[in-house]
Amino acid sequence: MSPTRILVTGGAGFIGSHYVRTLLGSLGPGDVHITVLDSLTYAASTANLDEVRHLDSFRFFAGDICDEPLVNDLMATHDQVVHFAAESHVDRSILSPAEFVRTNVLGTQILLDAALRHEVRTFIHVSTDEVYGSIATGSSAETHPVSPNSPYAASKASSDLIALSYHRTHGFDVRVTRCSNNYGHRQFPEKVIPLFVTNLLDGRQVPLYGDGLHVRDWLHIDDHVRGIELVRTGGRPGEVYNIGGGTELSNRDLTDLLLASCGASPEMIEYVVDRKGHDRRYSVDWSKIHNELGYTPAKNFADGLAETVAWYRDNRDWWEPLKTRAELLAKTC
Ligand code: NAD
Repeated sequence: MSPTRILVTGGAGFIGSHYVRTLLGSLGPGDVHITVLDSLTYAASTANLDEVRHLDSFRFFAGDICDEPLVNDLMATHDQVVHFAAESHVDRSILSPAEFVRTNVLGTQILLDAALRHEVRTFIHVSTDEVYGSIATGSSAETHPVSPNSPYAASKASSDLIALSYHRTHGFDVRVTRCSNNYGHRQFPEKVIPLFVTNLLDGRQVPLYGDGLHVRDWLHIDDHVRGIELVRTGGRPGEVYNIGGGTELSNRDLTDLLLASCGASPEMIEYVVDRKGHDRRYSVDWSKIHNELGYTPAKNFADGLAETVAWYRDNRDWWEPLKTRAELLAKTC
């Protein structure tokens, strides 16, 4: 049987590149060819794909998901799409929302249109728990109405709705995943865990928003990638699947764990003015993917965090240039 040809968008970013390395690695399914389409924004790292670059089953295209002719050409030779490409940082969406609407909403629609036109078999749209908005108690199931608060979350909720509309209108096989906060190695050092770890490794303070009592569920990228694969290979068309990690922590508790991992004291915390509109708590109910597809998060959080901290300690070459890039960008925003 010929291999399934998968177009992976955003495959030079944190989660997309982990997905590609996993599928093309020794424990991958072995029957897939992958093309990455990535416009290499500030958040990308081509080094994330070094491990797979030499493989015959891998191709890379530097390009924008909003480039209709390019997307149309690429789509013609693919069986499936796994769509990660996005502007992904909430803080940046507050400062410059236009790029979030362009990439996350328009880009998704352009991909869907081309995929429909070329009769692509399956389109996996990777989304986020942030589309549900803040939830004080309990957990959001897939039937929970979307109620996004930040421009980032609103752009992702919009793209989810557009993706699902292609199923309802055209019967196109679209599947949406909504995961909680990812962590692991190769995450861009603007996101809280790598930002705090790299600051601490440099002997700098960590900026904790507000009272630090905002709560997030933490999902290791290995578990996320496994969840996406279960949905790609066994999910149902037109369905949404939440993917959770099973470890809820306040940002303050997370910070304490990071301080301990880096041998730093609580004086290294700098309490800063809260993010505008900062959602208090996210929590997803992932019983659907568990019951239908057998998903359970496998990574113990303490182990995953220790491995992540160790990776940043050992890989300054990877993150130092990206951190400089992030800091320059923050100054120009
Ligand atoms: P990331 O910012 O690390 O990577 C995004 C990638 O998309 C980058 O390589 C970038 O160059 C590429 N990209 C951006 N705009 C593009 C465009 N117009 N055309 C082509 N490529 C473009 O993001 P990530 O953390 O890996 O997130 C991947 C997906 O998972 C996103 O859709 C995000 O919304 C979702 N998600 C992430 C998290 C998380 O905790 N990181 C949580 C929930 C959902």
